[in-house]
Amino acid sequence: MERDAILAAAGEIQSELPYLLGPAADGVADKLAEALDKGNGDIAAVLVTDVLRQYEATRSWMADRLAAAERGLQPLGGDPGPVQFPRFQCAACGWTWVRVRGAPIPACINCGGALAPMR
Ligand SMILES: [Zn+2]
Repeated sequence: MERDAILAAAGEIQSELPYLLGPAADGVADKLAEALDKGNGDIAAVLVTDVLRQYEATRSWMADRLAAAERGLQPLGGDPGPVQFPRFQCAACGWTWVRVRGAPIPACINCGGALAPMR
């Protein structure tokens, strides 16, 4: 269960890395992709955790994400399924961002455009 939550969160954090880490994002994205490539889910979960633990921003993102999963937060409507955080998208270039626990909404990291909630 925990393993599945880690792997699901690892998939989601990939699009957040540039925002969380800035210039370090590329190297971390590569390591994360490598970790997720491991066939065995247990090994992948351990490797993913190791990679994300190296930076405060990714470590706390992951901690928030897993804590939310444990509390069993569900999308409104109560349909059982993966935990969802509100997603935002840049209307100009399509970059997407996930808002965790009331974080301030940034400008698009690609083009500086405004992010709008996605449905
Ligand atoms: Zn943009």
